[in-house]
Amino acid sequence: MRTSNWILTAALLVSVSATAQQATESQPSAQPAAPDATQTSQPAPQAAPSAQPASPAPAADAQPAPQAAPTTMAQVVDLFIQREHALIKVLSTRTPVVETYLQNLTSDPQLGPVPSEDHYFLGRMDMGETVDRKDYLKEQDKSMETRLMGGFQKLFKVQYQPMGFSWMVYADRTDFDREHYDFRYVRREFLGDVRCLVFDVTPKKNSGRGRFLGRIWVEDQGFNIVRLNGTYAPAPRNSYFFHMDSWRLNLIPGYWVPSFIYSEEGDFSAGVKNKMAFKAQTRIWGYDLKKGTKDDELTNIRVDSVQDSSATAQDASPLQAERVWQQQAEDNVVERLTSAGLLAPEGELDHILQTVVNNLEVTNNIDLPRPVRTRVLLTSPLETFSVGNTIVISRGLIDVLPDEASLAAVLSHELAHIVLGHNLGSKYAFNDRMLFSDDGTYQNLGFKHIPEEEAAADKKAIEILKNSPYAQKLDNVGLFLKALQARAPELGALLTTHLGNPLAENGTVTRLQALESQGPALDNNKLDQIAALPLGGRVKINPWNDTAEMVKTAPVAITSARDKMPFEVTPFFPRLARYGENAAPATPTTAANTAPAPAPAN
Ligand SMILES: [Zn+2]
Repeated sequence: MRTSNWILTAALLVSVSATAQQATESQPSAQPAAPDATQTSQPAPQAAPSAQPASPAPAADAQPAPQAAPTTMAQVVDLFIQREHALIKVLSTRTPVVETYLQNLTSDPQLGPVPSEDHYFLGRMDMGETVDRKDYLKEQDKSMETRLMGGFQKLFKVQYQPMGFSWMVYADRTDFDREHYDFRYVRREFLGDVRCLVFDVTPKKNSGRGRFLGRIWVEDQGFNIVRLNGTYAPAPRNSYFFHMDSWRLNLIPGYWVPSFIYSEEGDFSAGVKNKMAFKAQTRIWGYDLKKGTKDDELTNIRVDSVQDSSATAQDASPLQAERVWQQQAEDNVVERLTSAGLLAPEGELDHILQTVVNNLEVTNNIDLPRPVRTRVLLTSPLETFSVGNTIVISRGLIDVLPDEASLAAVLSHELAHIVLGHNLGSKYAFNDRMLFSDDGTYQNLGFKHIPEEEAAADKKAIEILKNSPYAQKLDNVGLFLKALQARAPELGALLTTHLGNPLAENGTVTRLQALESQGPALDNNKLDQIAALPLGGRVKINPWNDTAEMVKTAPVAITSARDKMPFEVTPFFPRLARYGENAAPATPTTAANTAPAPAPAN
């Protein structure tokens, strides 16, 4: 996208100015300049324009260093081919979670391309030889397999194969080599803090179908591919390859792990017959999930740390026993969801959520026998649920909420369930109910309430909100609900919950409905009225260990109604950094540095 290119240039400029003494090195030169030996054998401190003093790059030492620093571009090509094969090998035992969320687009005269329909896929991907994807969503999305893209079926039978998105993690799984491809050096370029060599990759004639065609970015220390942008060609009969922009992160020493893929098709410019238009985000996480084998469990048991933490040495009273029993059910579920790669481990983001819950509790004199905890569901669909005293909120929902008051509102509904004693079900205290395969999670767990409890929780939630520090800001909540209502009919997949009650049913927002009338009317032309945000702008997930944290981005200046993009999918533009180096630079000061990435999803 145009914006992306501009930001790239900006990043490059910042880096160049930070390293004036290295200026000749950093300038993108028209000629393919061979990287010299000194540059590659050093941990290149000039590549990190962070506020911290450059540390002696532990990542560079830890990674399997190339035998000798390359002196020609041909050697660089050999190195990144070798590194790509090493990555495929090292990930071949992994089965990360893969999520694709796709929005079909239609053209709106005022807002430009807007979602007309959406689709959602979630599964585990086997990164081994056989590319397999086990789907978490079983029954409800079966029809997906046969659904065709609007208007396109006359030409080809195109299906959104979930595989179609997740296999774009590699340029070419089997034949990424000189026999099948031509590599042409383009220039040097910074992606975030990482200096890269850019190559155009084209398949050789008659090298077969489905070969990668596009551009790759190779970091200049370990010579790993960090980004791929392009498509696959030629397509087999009756099928079609999507364009993709695939990003990797340096999450473990020496390897850059596939993390985000953005795909987009369609052109709304004048004269173009719109045959197909969509945008899709694919996220991969859970690389380091335990396999759940007995061996794993045994190595994790530390007997010396197991002790009875109950308050008294006496037997529990019936009420105490009941509470311990419920706690056990709650802990079982939280553990099981975490090991299935659906919940982030407890972390930094939970402190923010817990603070909001605390604000609600304190001002309402809510005093519960057990503390309320919060956890983040790693998926995109807008969802909250609670199990026992644990409130779970999805990453996608945190992303789109415009402010703290709206966050408080969605959390207050679950707090109300807890206060009203709706979460006393304890069937999950029996451990046999936790014994199912990860892809059976959605079939085996569920925390939906009956309509009467939903209505009671909404009523209580509004009571709680009106007594809280957020009482004066409920107009914002009303605005958010209006924005959600405006898009709800088109975003059925985003609003389909998998474990809790939905926020909307059949295209109508049902959650906290009484607040929807509150506040001003929704007005796209009011540029300062931000009712809901695009997906991916708030929460940053570490795809290796699933930890979640808030993204720190500079506020974006909205210049037209098209910039608002509520609930929409946007391209990824993660700020790349080497392993062990801080990806988020401390307070940027230069003008170019404050350039906000379009919804940096990482
Ligand atoms: Zn509920």
